[in-house]
Amino acid sequence: MAPAVKLAVIGGGWAGLAAAVRATEAGHEVTLLEMASHWGGRARGVEVDGLALDNGQHILIGAYRRTLALMRTVGVDIDAVLHRQPLELRYADGRGLRLPGGPAALAFGMGVLRAEGWTAADKLALLAAAGRWALARFRCAPGTTVAELCAGLPPAVRQLLIDPLCVAALNTPAAQASATVWLNVLRDALFGGAGAADLMLPRRSLAALLPAPAAAWLQAQGAILRAGTRVRQLTAEGASWRVDDQRFDGVVLACSSTEAARLSRSIAPGWSARARALTYEPIVTVYLQCSGARLPAVMTALVDGPSAPAQFAFDHGALGATPGLFAFVVSGAQQWVDAGAEATAAAVLQQALQAFGSATWPTPPTVLRVLAEKRATFRCVPSLDRPEPAIAPGLVAAGDYVSGPYPATLEGAVRAGEGAFAALAQVRLA
Ligand SMILES: Cc1cc2nc3c(=O)[nH]c(=O)nc-3n(C[C@H](O)[C@H](O)[C@H](O)COP(=O)(O)OP(=O)(O)OC[C@H]3O[C@@H](n4cnc5c(N)ncnc54)[C@H](O)[C@@H]3O)c2cc1C
Repeated sequence: MAPAVKLAVIGGGWAGLAAAVRATEAGHEVTLLEMASHWGGRARGVEVDGLALDNGQHILIGAYRRTLALMRTVGVDIDAVLHRQPLELRYADGRGLRLPGGPAALAFGMGVLRAEGWTAADKLALLAAAGRWALARFRCAPGTTVAELCAGLPPAVRQLLIDPLCVAALNTPAAQASATVWLNVLRDALFGGAGAADLMLPRRSLAALLPAPAAAWLQAQGAILRAGTRVRQLTAEGASWRVDDQRFDGVVLACSSTEAARLSRSIAPGWSARARALTYEPIVTVYLQCSGARLPAVMTALVDGPSAPAQFAFDHGALGATPGLFAFVVSGAQQWVDAGAEATAAAVLQQALQAFGSATWPTPPTVLRVLAEKRATFRCVPSLDRPEPAIAPGLVAAGDYVSGPYPATLEGAVRAGEGAFAALAQVRLA
């Protein structure tokens, strides 16, 4: 897109911020329009009783290269905002996996061999399966589910590793989740070079990770930022676009898939129908408080079940954030959204007491807040028809849902935002 053009980015989540930053960096005149009063979309900070929380606990990993690069571009000190450690997937009773540092594939092998609570046969079966996946270059038949891919693994490995990792990464249970996308995540995390599998956990509000610094950076570079502005209409006007009452040379639709479908309905009915057809899975985060309590690790895996909602617990004190604050995460949470906030809170309290034992809690923990995101991520099922970024000349989509290798993640959103800007540049140059 040389020379500079007027570009509208609709939606100020991580995809929209990525597109806006990269376009501004390339010298274009960017206007960022966001419906809500805040930046960050589904990965945003919220304030509850004076405490800076997030709308849901987020996990980043070392393989989020584009996200980390974007954070650096807008001046974020990665070490200050993220706690980094080798991947650890351990239960309160000590069972599970802890990777040593070093090259990822080697660390994975060492971690599996040293894992607690598995037999030698369990470990060998997992290493053999990982070897087969690597030999097949992390590809499988398109219609395969994660449960089908892992059917030959021993039950302990499936229940203690595959199922919780799958629901954490894809927010879709293994029985319904896409093995293709799962293998992409494994490839880039476990076999993606030193540090790729590292856990990177926010020790500041999500707002401080990207949304606030990106908005400040954009403003300082002269971009126009309009929060609290819902775009109602998008129409073609010759070779340019009208966004409500303003004219632009190009548009990045970085809003939700439903809003992108609405805005593009008369422009590209086929694309719009594909975006509208995506379905979503909820995530519930239950924040507990207990002064003086400390969990055995910053992130502990939990055994979930019909009366135990959460798969992971996070200790915000151990993360270097707020002592005595704990986030319990319920992925694939439709059953608990249906049960309601009160029932979910009661079940999580019970689960917290049982999993960690009463000695962990000097006083009974209390519920600070139950935050339910009903449309947290798209259901990542096999052979999912995800729409392409290109919609029409000068009009592209960005968002974690557009076609790409990853499930709905921050990295998927950032890559989509940067990719949309790059695609627009190509269309304009052609
Ligand atoms: C509870 C929860 C936990 C998660 N955990 C993780 C995790 O651990 N790791 C991970 O990597 N990912 C996680 N995710 C997923 C991650 O948050 C998303 O993939 C990512 O934030 C999506 O960004 P996006 O920009 O594509 O979409 P969005 O964040 O949805 O941004 C779209 C934006 O467009 C705005 N908008 C919509 N319509 C209009 C309109 N007409 N005009 C103007 N603006 C509009 C919306 O208000 C929104 O701000 C989680 C998500 C949730 C909800």
